[in-house]
Order: sequence, then structure tokens, then C-alpha cells
Amino acid sequence: MSDSEMSPKRSLTTRIVIGMTAGIAVGVVLNGLLTSTLEPEGKVSGLIQGVLIDGVFYVGGAIFMASLKLLVVPLVFVSLVCGTASLEDVSRLGRIGGKTLGLYLLTTAIAVSLALLTAILIAPGEGLDLPTQTNFVAREAPGLAETLVNIFPTNPIKAMAEGNMLQIIVFALLFGFAMTLSGEPGRRLLGVFEDANRVILRLVEVLMEVAPYGVFFLLAKVFSVQGLATILDLFQYFVTVLTVLLLHGLLVYPALLFVFSGLDPRALLRKMRTPISFAFSTASSNATLPVTLETVEEKLGVNNSVASFTIPLGATINMDGTAIMQGVATAFIAQAYGVELGVTQLIVVVLTATLASIGTAGVPGVGLIMLALVLNQVGLPVEGIGLIIGVDRLLDMVRTAVNITGDSVVSCIVAKSEGEFSAERYASR
Ligand code: ASP
Repeated sequence: MSDSEMSPKRSLTTRIVIGMTAGIAVGVVLNGLLTSTLEPEGKVSGLIQGVLIDGVFYVGGAIFMASLKLLVVPLVFVSLVCGTASLEDVSRLGRIGGKTLGLYLLTTAIAVSLALLTAILIAPGEGLDLPTQTNFVAREAPGLAETLVNIFPTNPIKAMAEGNMLQIIVFALLFGFAMTLSGEPGRRLLGVFEDANRVILRLVEVLMEVAPYGVFFLLAKVFSVQGLATILDLFQYFVTVLTVLLLHGLLVYPALLFVFSGLDPRALLRKMRTPISFAFSTASSNATLPVTLETVEEKLGVNNSVASFTIPLGATINMDGTAIMQGVATAFIAQAYGVELGVTQLIVVVLTATLASIGTAGVPGVGLIMLALVLNQVGLPVEGIGLIIGVDRLLDMVRTAVNITGDSVVSCIVAKSEGEFSAERYASR
């Protein structure tokens, strides 16, 4: 690839970082103005709130999010049909699925274990002066049987209209499989799907060009509403979650990638910077999916037949960052309420946090709701969630970045082991 082809990509990452930095700075300043202004109900505050925060930032951010989300369903369907139909031997699908699920479970279990270990060592919740009452109300989690049955669509159009990712995946796999069995008509249709796939990916790239503005609006809104003072109240919890997220993202993933596939992890981390900044700004694995898929295929060299399956599945069920938050939060709440967790209970936490993170949808804030499942299993008060809610949005941004990095690592490992990988593309600048 020539330098002239490379420079726009490099400058896109830089421009996104500038957009993010500016968004955070503007948000923090506005939040400071709103909270410290002498006339909180006055004209200036009203203008800032009404025109900027609820006006420009909200509208700009919401349109950006909507344009990302609108690509998800068509992209996943078209891309996965292509991926399945282009596999010469469809029985390989079972192997790819098995490896992917195995690795997703393994990485999540490692993530929770690391989270528990660190939280027990740091003990962020010990000696907390607890508010006696928090106003958090837990929601019921769906049962296992219902969850399994729900993976299978009765109406694919409904599944698409609702954005039900697992159902869309099942339908795309079946459709692609039937195409491979259909001889010439299947091959003709594959050509159409491949063309559609290219067009949608092109649209993703077009959208990425406006990302610097999109991330600016999103972050300016979050930080002007959120403020950073809450971090101080929950400083130890915040730092513990952040530490484990960074350890997992910067040490565990690189180590796994190297051990399982021999690839240089630095290339992956460098190339994932764009999807990572999308994940951070949107706090949604789902909304980031088009960008993750584009990066994993085009820049990391994972073949469409693997990426089109592993990335949508990962964005839906593989949430290592979420599991980390749930592990630390459980230990934190136990410490705050003065409850000692025994070895059996710790094992239960690892298992249920793994399941709870699988059940977490790739949208903002759901990880916290699913935490109720873990707390219930070990008999901790669900209202404890109210203690940590104040910093959850900020942590959500970082954990979503970890979630999608995990998907890309597993995708590379599976693709490499299946020979569906371009080492050349991976190594290119
Ligand atoms: N926001 C996370 C994601 O989209 C899920 C969560 O932890 O709430 O990956």
C-alpha cells in the first residue's frame, strides 16, 4: 500500500482522537459552569442546557448513533450469508462455532477471575460509610429455557425489525447454508450478496469520515451531564475496575493472541484504535459493530467467512469488560455490606458473571442491570447496585472498548487456526 493511500486512514484516527478530546474538554467545562454557576436557574445555564446540551450535542450525537445502528442489521445479515455460503465445506462452520464459543467463554472466565482477585486484593469497598437506602430497583432476568428458545426466530423480518442479533445470526446461517446446497442459483445469489456486502462496507467507511464530529457530540453530552465529581466519591471502585480493564486489554489479550496464534499483538492494538474510540464514545458494542467488522476484515486480515460470524456473535455475547465490572462490583458490594464471600461463592460469581455478561445486550448500561443476576446468586442485596450507578456510564465506555477488543482477538485466533487469515494484511501498516 502506498503512502498516499495510507495517510487518510492515519489522519482519521487522529481526527477522531481530536474530536474525543475536544468533546470531553467541552463537556467538563460546561458541567463545571452548570454546577458552579452563581445562578443555576439563570439565563446562561438555561441556554447551555437547552441550546447546547439538549440541543446541538443531543441531536448531533443521536443522529450519529442512529446512522451507525442503521447499518448493523443489513450488514450482519448480508455479511454472514456471504461468509456461510462461501465456506467450501459447511461442516467447518461447526468447528469455527465451537472454537469461537470456547474462546469467548475462556476469555470471559479469565476476565471475571482477574476482576475478583484484584478486587479482593485492593478491597475497594471496605470501610465504606453506606447510605442506608438506595433507590435502585432490579429487573427480573429471563430464564435459561426461554433464552435458548428465543435464539430461534419464528419470523426473520420481525427479528430484523427488532434487531434481535442472535435470531438474525441463526437465520443468516440457515440461509447461507441453503445457498451452498442450491448449486447454480445459490452461486448466482452469492454474487449479489457479495456486491451488497461491499456496498454496505463502503457505507461504513463513509460514515467513519464523520466520526470525529459524532464522537465530539456524544462525549460533550455525556461529560456535561455526568461531571467528574462522582468519580471522587467512588474513587477506589472506579480505579479498581479501570485497572482490571486495562490489565485485561493490554496484557491478557496480547498474551492470548500471541500464545494461540503467534501474532504480534501490537499490530492488533494499533489497528483497533478506531473501533475502540467508537466503542468508548457510544458505549455500545452493537453500534460499533459495523466499524469493528470493517477493521477486522480489512485491516486485520480476517476472512469474511470467520469475521462475519465471530464479530456479530461477539458483539452480542462476548462481554469481558462487562464481566470485569460485574466481578469487581460484586466484591465491592460484598465488602461494603460487610459480607465475606467464600471460595464456593467466588466460583458461583465467576460462573454467573460469565452468564450475565453473555446475557448483556451490547447497548449502554445493560451490564449494570444484569449484575442483579450475580448478586442474587450469592445472596447480596440487589440495591447495592445503587451504590455504583454514579460512575457506571464512564466505566461503561471503557468496558465496551474492552468488549469489542476481545471479539477481534478471538476472531484473529480462530481465523488463523482455520487458515482464513491474511498474515500480509495483518502485518501491513
Ligand atoms: N455497554 C456495553 C456494551 O455495549 C454493555 C454493558 O456492559 O452495559 O458492550
